[in-house]
Amino acid sequence: VLQVDGLGKHYGGRTVLRGAALQVAEGETVVIIGPSGSGKTTLLRCLNWLETPDTGQVLLRGEPIGRTAAGKPLPEARLAAQRARFGFVFQRFNLFAHLSALDNVAIGPQRVLGLSAADARERARQQLDRVHLASHVDKRPSQLSGGQQQRVAIARALAMQPELILFDEPTSALDPELVTEVVDVMAELAAGGMTMVAVTHEMRFARSAADRVVFIDDGAVVEEGPPAQLFDAPLNERTRRFLSHLH
Ligand code: ATP
Repeated sequence: VLQVDGLGKHYGGRTVLRGAALQVAEGETVVIIGPSGSGKTTLLRCLNWLETPDTGQVLLRGEPIGRTAAGKPLPEARLAAQRARFGFVFQRFNLFAHLSALDNVAIGPQRVLGLSAADARERARQQLDRVHLASHVDKRPSQLSGGQQQRVAIARALAMQPELILFDEPTSALDPELVTEVVDVMAELAAGGMTMVAVTHEMRFARSAADRVVFIDDGAVVEEGPPAQLFDAPLNERTRRFLSHLH
């Protein structure tokens, strides 16, 4: 589905990505791990052009993201249409505080996809049910726990029927006792065949739900493989050192 080559990105004099590459197949769950500051979030944000990489390309089903075939920046409307093909779940849920859970999820399908209000609300209800929030649809974010708010954010992404979903440290802002309910929903989506790329520090999720784990250090992919291989028999010294510091 996704083919990423040679991504480079710098902020001022600081190089954050240096030739990062990634492939994601249909239905695959890819987990990106790596030290703080290694460029994980930046890489994820480059995939749907929330950040513009300096070099390299992202192909979604063979179509270049963010640039024309001639390499020019895409017009904003076409970029927005491309971005709508990705779901994005942020560390901080970014829900509308004045809207109910249902309206937070329905607003995208209605405004962006052009569904009728009734159809958008029906779709929102289905997706909130899928993240086990059927009994909370009328609550506002302030009436929900952090774990529930993050599940609303996941339902909001699902309601747009994206081709894949990007998760940026979705449990990092949560109290420890709320992490499991979010991880469980993500694992259900992975098992259901959703294509997902997740930056996360939840190694249990990586181990149990990932098809492939990608270890990034210093802006480039150092090593990748199935979780059992990467966690139990890493080939690279830097991967070993990172994993040895986790516990
Ligand atoms: P963490 O696990 O701590 O979130 P990360 O691997 O996700 O780290 P990034 O968030 O991608 O790393 O950041 C990589 C580097 O780029 C960091 O040093 C960060 O300070 C820097 N950086 C990220 N975004 C910006 C920005 N908008 N402007 C300037 N520097 C940035």
